[in-house]
Amino acid sequence: REEMSSGGKGGRSRLLILFPTPFEGHITPMLQLATILRSKGFSITIVHTLFNSPDPSKHPDFHFEPIPDGLTADELTTGALLHHTLNVKCEKPFRDCLTRMIMSTNSGNEIVSCIISDLLMYFTQSVADELKLPRLALRAGSLTSFAAFAAFPLLLEKGILPIKDTQCEEVIPDLEPLRVKDLPEFHSKDPKGIFQFVSNMVEGTKGSSGFICNTFQDLEEATLSKLRKDLPCQIFPIGPLYLYSSSSSASASCSSLKKQDYTCMAWLEKQAPRSVIYVSFGSVVVMEQEEAEETMWGLLDSKQPFLLVLRRDSVRGSDGPVQLPQGFEEEMIDGGRGLIVEWAPQRQVLAHPAVGGFWTHCGWNSTLESVSEGVPMLCSPFFGDQRVNARCITHVLRIGLQLDQKGLNRAEIAKAVRKLLMVDDEGAETAKELRIRAEALKEKARQSIREFGSSYESVNSLVDHILSFQL
Ligand code: UDP
Repeated sequence: REEMSSGGKGGRSRLLILFPTPFEGHITPMLQLATILRSKGFSITIVHTLFNSPDPSKHPDFHFEPIPDGLTADELTTGALLHHTLNVKCEKPFRDCLTRMIMSTNSGNEIVSCIISDLLMYFTQSVADELKLPRLALRAGSLTSFAAFAAFPLLLEKGILPIKDTQCEEVIPDLEPLRVKDLPEFHSKDPKGIFQFVSNMVEGTKGSSGFICNTFQDLEEATLSKLRKDLPCQIFPIGPLYLYSSSSSASASCSSLKKQDYTCMAWLEKQAPRSVIYVSFGSVVVMEQEEAEETMWGLLDSKQPFLLVLRRDSVRGSDGPVQLPQGFEEEMIDGGRGLIVEWAPQRQVLAHPAVGGFWTHCGWNSTLESVSEGVPMLCSPFFGDQRVNARCITHVLRIGLQLDQKGLNRAEIAKAVRKLLMVDDEGAETAKELRIRAEALKEKARQSIREFGSSYESVNSLVDHILSFQL
């Protein structure tokens, strides 16, 4: 395979053009995929927006092509609708960039083989069709949340969507164990715009030449078999993508857009095994000041060591170091109990033996990283597909506890943290079972990417699939 992939028509090497959605949780898996495909002999060009642009100097094996995105400061604050804007504004520059690349490769020693783009960037499907190139779609989120998105038209027809308070607890037929309140939610002022976006994304995926997923067979087995029946395109579950690079010298963390603060690793060294709760709500969640304060006091009240990530923009309206509540810093530092950083090397943190639990917003990358390191989770989904992931973590995989966002208060937090870390007798048996299951799933994740594992085989099928494209 390796030899074949580098030998295209007339000995020219096959070039793959990758286009991520410009956010941390999407760029990282795309770059991880690029690393795998590069190792199979393909040439890689990453086309990217100027907004949230990756750092080419960290990836010398890839070629980078920036395109102007034309985003205004106002558009950057439109939440989920920003994805729609990106689809509109990137279309022309992306088409122009590809046309240029096809022309220049025609006379060079490379030949464009296909486009691999994030599934949210659905406009790339029509550009690919126009340019007569195959397009593969990459799902950076969970497959189960994709299945929920694919069900939106039916849920709208049945009146289950838009969500009504009276139906919140009902389990949705065909999407069990998801309840109505677990469906992806975007707190948008324009729900119709969101439904249209979701529909475009699902249709774009159905029209693609293949669907690459950052998941593995044992993690989302039921959804995989359902979607394999429902979707016209072939599915390649090749995750957890992060595991491929964590074992090699090319550290997976180098794709992070933010600078990671490694001082926390020395702090972790001083903590007892499995005593620390690591807390991060990803790269985009914004909390109210009150929620941030309850979070901090709850952690302190748990009397367990904690490592808390608070970005400069974690709290609404702020863009600087987070304001600590009065008296908090003294207590935190005097007790030597907590550390707050702006951005952690999350994968290394989760792999550290001192970490006994992960309080997470259930973003899919964070979920996969926790699964891959065998760390049980405390789930606080905020929006979008996080609620689907939380339900799967707590009720399908059963490797986490749910902490309701509505009940985000210090007493609840302290209690849940102590339960997860098995400090109190109450609930310790349940937490112990979570930990055992998390350990077992970690093994399965690692097995999936080893020789003959399900993801390993899926990567091979993907390579064969790309090689089968007519040049
Ligand atoms: N992350 C990190 N340091 C932090 C917090 C998060 O490197 O302090 C990384 C994390 O490892 C993950 C990504 O940021 O790969 C967050 O992606 P996820 O899908 O979990 O959430 P999103 O940011 O998309 O909401």
